[in-house]
Amino acid sequence: MSRLAKPVEQLRDRYDVIIVGSGYGGGVSASRLARAGKKVAVLERGREFVTGEFPSRFPELRSELRISTQSMSSGSPTALYDLRIGEDIHVLVGCGLGGGSLVNAGVSLRPDPRVFGDEVWPGQLRQDGLLDDGYRRAEAWLRPSPHPRAGEFDKYQAIAGAAEKMGCQMRNTPVAVSFEENVNPAGLIQPACTSCGDCCSGCNVGAKNTVAVTYLPDAVRHGAELFTEIKVQRITKRPDGTWQVEARPSGSKTNGKGGGDQILLEADVVILAAGTLGSTEILLRSAEAGLAVSDRLGQRFSANGDIIAFGYGGSQVVNAIGVGHPSKIEGFEVGSSVTGQLEYRDSDNLDFEYAVQDGAMPSPIAPVLPVMFLPNGRLLGAVQSLISGVYKGPFARLQTFFAVSHDSASGRFALDGDRLNLSWPGAKDEPVYERLGVALSKIAGHVGGSYVQNPLAGTVMGQQPATAHPLGGCGMGSERGDGVVNHKGQVFDAGAGQDSTAIHRGLYVIDGSIIPRSLGVNPLLTITALAERAMLHMRADFGLSFDTEPVGAEQAADVTAPGAVQ
Ligand SMILES: Cc1cc2nc3c(=O)[nH]c(=O)nc-3n(C[C@H](O)[C@H](O)[C@H](O)COP(=O)(O)OP(=O)(O)OC[C@H]3O[C@@H](n4cnc5c(N)ncnc54)[C@H](O)[C@@H]3O)c2cc1C
Ligand code: SF4
Repeated sequence: MSRLAKPVEQLRDRYDVIIVGSGYGGGVSASRLARAGKKVAVLERGREFVTGEFPSRFPELRSELRISTQSMSSGSPTALYDLRIGEDIHVLVGCGLGGGSLVNAGVSLRPDPRVFGDEVWPGQLRQDGLLDDGYRRAEAWLRPSPHPRAGEFDKYQAIAGAAEKMGCQMRNTPVAVSFEENVNPAGLIQPACTSCGDCCSGCNVGAKNTVAVTYLPDAVRHGAELFTEIKVQRITKRPDGTWQVEARPSGSKTNGKGGGDQILLEADVVILAAGTLGSTEILLRSAEAGLAVSDRLGQRFSANGDIIAFGYGGSQVVNAIGVGHPSKIEGFEVGSSVTGQLEYRDSDNLDFEYAVQDGAMPSPIAPVLPVMFLPNGRLLGAVQSLISGVYKGPFARLQTFFAVSHDSASGRFALDGDRLNLSWPGAKDEPVYERLGVALSKIAGHVGGSYVQNPLAGTVMGQQPATAHPLGGCGMGSERGDGVVNHKGQVFDAGAGQDSTAIHRGLYVIDGSIIPRSLGVNPLLTITALAERAMLHMRADFGLSFDTEPVGAEQAADVTAPGAVQ
C-alpha cells in the first residue's frame, strides 16, 4: 500500500523548516512552505492510516486507545485515540498522520464575530483583514458543506423537533465531507460519502476531507518529507540562531541512524503544531531546559464549553449509531456524524449561547454501548439490545449530543516530572455545564428520553467533564505579559530585556494551543484559518512566494493510495 510518510532512515540531519505534528496547523504549514520551495520535514508521533485501515470492529478500536492518568498509561503510544484522564477534566485528542482530523466529525463553523471582539486577542488579528482571508482559504481546501439530505435523517429530526419547541434555530451543519465524487484541491479523487455515520472512528470510504487527504498530500506533492512515529521532546536555540529539535521514536520503529534512540535535527525554522497538549508540553520542556518564554505558558486552557452526552430511553427511533463501510447493515443510512444543530442565540450575552449537534456513535463502539449503560441500572434495555443488536431496541433510540458553548478558559498545564498535568479546580462547576444540562434535558425529553451526562461516571471517568476540543496553553497575546505567541504564532522571547514584543526568530506555534479562549463553535475551521493567516504573514516576513491554487485534475490520484501523489 502506498503511503505519504517516508521511512525514518531517510530523515536528514537538517531542514529549512521542521514542523512538529500533522493536524490542521501542521498540514497547512507543510503545504504552504513546501509550495514556497522550502525543504520541509513533518514529524508526527502517530502512525499513518490509509483509507480502509481505520478500526471497524471493537477489538480494533480498543487497540487504538491510549489512556493516561497522572500516574500510569495503558495502550500503545501510537494509538489513534489519546485519552487523558485528569483530576479535574478529561481530554480526548487524535494521534496519527492528519491529527484530530482522522477521528473528528468534520464540523466546520466560523465563530460569532463577538468572539474576536474579546480584548484577549491581539489587536492585529482584527485589524489586518487577513483572518477573513484565512477562513476563505481554509474553506476552499476543506470544502465544508451540509449533508444535502440533512433534514431526512431521524437523528436530525429528533433535535429539530426540540428546537422548534424551545424556540431555537435549527441549522444544517457544514461538515468537511465530500457528498459527491470529486477531485479535491490536493488532486485526490474522493468518492461520495455513504452516510455510514462512522466519521469519529475514521472514514473508510475516503469521503471525509481530512488533513491526510488535503493539505498533507499537497505538501508531499511539493516536496515535503513526512515521518511518522517520531515524538519530539524539546527544542533548543543554537548559538547561531538556528534550532535543534530533539526527538525519539514513539512506536516500534528505531531511528535507523544508530546512536541510541535520540534523534537530533537542525532547522532554520521550527513550527510547533503538535496540538494543544503536544505543543504546550514541548514548550514547557524546552523552557525547563532554558528557553526563555512567557510565564503565561500553560495558562488559559479552555475546553470550548464542549461536552458529549446522551439522550436515553426515548420513544423515537433516531438511528444514531454508525454502520461503517462496508456497511454492517445493507441499505441503512445514518447520515454524516453530524447533520444538524440546534442553536441558542443570545444577543446580550455571548457566553450563554450554545449549539447542540445530532451526533452519531461510530459502529466499532456499538457492541459496548449496552455495557456502557449498565452501571446506570439500565439492565433491562441493555439486555434487550444485546439480543436484538444496537440497531433495534433501546439503542436505536439513543441520542448522541455534541454540544459547544463557552467557558472561562481557566485550566492550567504544568509539567509533573515527565508528565503533562492539567489542573482546573472547579472545572465541573463552570456555569456552562449547568446551562447545557438544562438544555439537553429538554432536548432528550422532547422524544421522551432522559439526559445522560456520562454513562461512564461510575468508572475512572468520574463526574469530571470531558472535552474533545482542547484549546490554549500557548495563547496569543499582544506582548509576552499577556500571551505566549503573537498574532502570527511567533513565540515571545522573555529574555529580550525591555522589548516585551520581541520574539524568537524562527520559532512558531500554529495549532489549537494558540487560541486563548473558547470559540463557541467546533474549532477546526478557526485553527485552519489562523494557520493560513500565519502563512500569509510568513510569506511577507521571509519574502516567500507561494499560491494556494488547487492541483489540476489532470494529475489526479486515488484517495485510497495517497502515496501516488509522490
Ligand atoms: C472525536 C473527536 C471529534 C471532533 N469533532 C470535531 C468537529 O466536528 N469539528 C471540529 O472543529 N473539531 C472537532 N474535534 C477537534 C479537532 O479535531 C481538533 O480541535 C483539531 O484536530 C486540533 O487541530 P490541531 O492542529 O491543533 O492539532 P491536532 O489535530 O491535534 O494535531 C496535532 C498532531 O500532533 C501530534 N503530536 C502531538 N505531540 C507530538 C510530539 N511531541 N511530537 C510529534 N507529534 C506530536 C499528534 O499526534 C497529532 O497528530 C474533534 C476531536 C475529536 C477527538
Ligand atoms: S459518514 Fe461515513 S462515508 Fe461519510 S464522511 Fe463519515 S465516515 Fe466517511
